[in-house]
Amino acid sequence: MKAVVFHKPKDMRVETVEDPVLEKPDDLILKITSTAICGSDLHIYNGFLPQKEPLVMGHEFMGVVEETGRDVTGLRRGDRVVVPFPVACGQCFFCHTGLPVHCEHSNDNYGPEGGLLNEKGGGLFGYTDLYGGYRGGQAEYVRVPYANFGPRRISDRYTDEQVLFLTDIFPTGFSGVEWAGVKGGETVAVFGCGPVGLMAQKCAWIRGAKRVIGLDVEPYRLEMARRVAGSEVIDVTEDHTVETIRSMTEGRGADVCIDAVGMEAQRGFLDKISNIIHLQAGSISVLKLAFSAVRRGGSVSILGVYGMPYDNFSLGQIFDKGLTIFSGQAPVHRYIDELISWLDQDKIRLDDIITHRLPLAEAPHGYEIFNNKTDSCVKVVLRP
Ligand SMILES: [Zn+2]
Ligand SMILES: [Zn+2]
Repeated sequence: MKAVVFHKPKDMRVETVEDPVLEKPDDLILKITSTAICGSDLHIYNGFLPQKEPLVMGHEFMGVVEETGRDVTGLRRGDRVVVPFPVACGQCFFCHTGLPVHCEHSNDNYGPEGGLLNEKGGGLFGYTDLYGGYRGGQAEYVRVPYANFGPRRISDRYTDEQVLFLTDIFPTGFSGVEWAGVKGGETVAVFGCGPVGLMAQKCAWIRGAKRVIGLDVEPYRLEMARRVAGSEVIDVTEDHTVETIRSMTEGRGADVCIDAVGMEAQRGFLDKISNIIHLQAGSISVLKLAFSAVRRGGSVSILGVYGMPYDNFSLGQIFDKGLTIFSGQAPVHRYIDELISWLDQDKIRLDDIITHRLPLAEAPHGYEIFNNKTDSCVKVVLRP
């Protein structure tokens, strides 16, 4: 089959690899119909996460069941499904407590400590050997482990593009709003108007936020936040970000700030920090902005990925302001059924953030424009 394969930083190739096969009785093989490039794929693309062996990329994918192992009970050949990005067993302590990204069985490199290069959480599709080494879904086929727990059947009334983002960015954006307890009347400031930030903004409105503010450094992304999320926007390059948010909130700051940028190095957001091994630290300047822009007693949700310990972390400010911080990968399995019901009730539209639709063969170009923020790229969908 054809697949998008990571070789080294900035070197993605579409090449022929071996077809996946059933390895365990509760596996299934999925024929991919649509898959997307995610902001967190760029951490691998840019060398923020080490990976020695070639890796089939992709954790946002959907398709049609091709083959099922003998223990797969709920699905059969021909069923159309979306697949959550965390690989989770459905049986362990964490899977039972609604934390599938911390599954104890899906990653050989698992441990309680959460180290830099070891003791990570549960497995993730197409996300390096640190996260289980699973081959991803930017391919014609993928093996889906624990097929009784992850995949969700999708009605034929939806096109692929209408539901594809249930796999990651929709539940991830929702998590930032849900964790912060948005229930109506709040001012929610979302740092980053990329795919996850846009989803968080849409979800904040649906949860009844009074004001939703999108912040970014790219004019085309601010424009999209205005257009598809109906948010007020602030250009972070214009420096007075925190003062602007305070002036919009009677001097107090936003009730909720959501960091949808993470350590990804972004022009204007960034201090330059050293490389350690292959890992780049990136910067926490976005997070520091969020701690300043949130009101006393407010909440900050961290959705952007951070992989390193950081100096000059503003713990004193967090304590003085009495902030509550939420962070982590989205527990997709826990939220996905509720979010499917939002689609069924026409509460939200997901496909209006797609700017590029490419055949799988053009994936390297997709990575390039998404990474370089050229051609007004916000979200790339690939079709095998
Ligand atoms: Zn993703
Ligand atoms: Zn588990």
